[in-house]
Amino acid sequence: MRGPVPPPGESMRPRGRVRGDAVAVLAGRVFAHTRPSDASDLVALIGADDGGLVLTGANPVRAARRCRDEQAFGGPILFDLAAAEGKIATRERPFDENGDRLVETTLEERVQGQIDAGADAALTPTLYLRAGEFGAVEAAVEGAVGLGRDDVILSLPMDAGWLARGLIDKVIGLLAGVPIPKAIMLGGQFNPPQRVMDGVLGLRRLVTEVPNVALFRTDLAGLDAMAQGSLAASIGTSSALRHVVPPGEAAVYGRANGGRDDRSPSVLVPDLLSYVRGSVLADRFGDRPAPLCRCARCGGRSIVSFLRQEDWRDARLHGVAVWTQWARNLLYPDSLAGRRRYWRQLCREAIAAHARYNTLVRAREPVFTPPESLWIWAGEDTAPTTAGAAVPVRPR
Ligand SMILES: [Zn+2]
Repeated sequence: MRGPVPPPGESMRPRGRVRGDAVAVLAGRVFAHTRPSDASDLVALIGADDGGLVLTGANPVRAARRCRDEQAFGGPILFDLAAAEGKIATRERPFDENGDRLVETTLEERVQGQIDAGADAALTPTLYLRAGEFGAVEAAVEGAVGLGRDDVILSLPMDAGWLARGLIDKVIGLLAGVPIPKAIMLGGQFNPPQRVMDGVLGLRRLVTEVPNVALFRTDLAGLDAMAQGSLAASIGTSSALRHVVPPGEAAVYGRANGGRDDRSPSVLVPDLLSYVRGSVLADRFGDRPAPLCRCARCGGRSIVSFLRQEDWRDARLHGVAVWTQWARNLLYPDSLAGRRRYWRQLCREAIAAHARYNTLVRAREPVFTPPESLWIWAGEDTAPTTAGAAVPVRPR
């Protein structure tokens, strides 16, 4: 069996832990973006050669030490200080330099603090970048590059509005010359739906036209980014960690499902390549037999069994077990074309599976409909006129 393949332009090197050089720490990996409390369980699921951990939340240093010392985890560990959830970045103040809220700390100190605490590279504590605030982006770039270190990753918690036509070209122009690796984390939503297309295609442009870009704190868009040649990605283990919540906005997850008090987690459905809320899955299947999950975590558990508060942890670990396998298959081919082929095929099969699920639940109207992004990832961004039998034909 062949070993993991380096990204284009990079020579084969021994994998495992590389400290210091941030590009080498990131290259060719899909990280789990997680709360520290799940870290110990995750190291059993993710690979030290093609994965890693981005820890955000309380006590990340202790969790990182446990992974290293007690579980001998050899993959990279990063800390996301999640500064963007508190404040908007400005030209005068692009970073959170208020580490312990008492004493002003410099950017250099916040970066060195992460390295001292055991991080393999440091993520800048960049504040939230509102769409169009070029001054704030320029100041963040200047500050991070000005450190003159090669173990720094410039965090870019950007509003999804940056991906709109009119701004995307300018932001690509601004970032293309930045010599250090960049981790883009998107905030806000791709809504209304017509903006999804701009969003997905804009992200693809960012990761292909700007060198050394990683897409962090995202959902399966991270796998699409890897298929396009992105440096790295991190996928959030829970819905709150699959995007950045803009300052002043509450995370919108909790009551759903017709307003009933719904405690069910978001569940990655392997066949559908999509996250669906546990209660929604259970409602749709009702008494009918539902598919079982054979992932490394579930071992045959029904996909409609994630319903209560106590199931959240299992849902998070199940999700990582499932996408880790996809990431491994995606990164295996030795050419970008091979990666794209695998990913497109996976997306096409998932689109077809939606129809199969509608049959399974005997829905009169289709209740399982592929998300807009899945169509774009599958390469079916316009209704095909000469679709082959293997390609699902898009309705409308
Ligand atoms: Zn599972």
